[in-house]
Amino acid sequence: MTLQAGVVAVQGDVSEHAEAIERAGAAHGTETSVVEIRESGLVPDCDALLLPGGESTTISRLVHREGIAPEIEAHVAAGKPLLATCAGLILLSTDANDDRVDTLDLLDVTVERNAFGRQRDSFEAPLDVIGLDDPFPAVFIRAPVVGSVGEDVEVLATWDDRPVAVRQGPVIGTAFHPELTPDSRIHDLAFFDDVKAGVSSV
Ligand code: GLN
Repeated sequence: MTLQAGVVAVQGDVSEHAEAIERAGAAHGTETSVVEIRESGLVPDCDALLLPGGESTTISRLVHREGIAPEIEAHVAAGKPLLATCAGLILLSTDANDDRVDTLDLLDVTVERNAFGRQRDSFEAPLDVIGLDDPFPAVFIRAPVVGSVGEDVEVLATWDDRPVAVRQGPVIGTAFHPELTPDSRIHDLAFFDDVKAGVSSV
């Protein structure tokens, strides 16, 4: 059986996410077919979705304009897995503290954009993540942090005492970029843990 994954491709690390989910799937004996999403009509056929980083203001504008936003909401309402990274996390929040980001409210968290400031704009850190045995090499690039966290949200990782990875139902959001290292354990956690997406791990 082939897992149909979609990477929202209006901006960001599209091919890196595609490779990461393919790698994670292969480790489970699952073939993954990846479609790039720039228009409406493709998301409904996807078992799994990835929402990359980029500029949350731009991604917000485009997913709403192209009619992709309601399809992402329906995907999550159907209980299908979604991994959102960095600007993707910002877009899924309930409040990005920025009027230019029309959030999708799929993660009950508020976020602060570019929260690590200019000094530590981009950095890599070994991050303890719930569900992973060893620290994950987390690459932060002008990353947000999570502010308030709703009661249905599980904090999977913190850095400097601030949440940087969260899970709510089928949705995982990370402030960092798991697609930028060869380590695909976050994609594994999002899509193949507990036999997600209706695909059995052979
Ligand atoms: N700084 C970007 C924003 O606020 C996010 C950066 C990223 O996705 N790497 O939208």
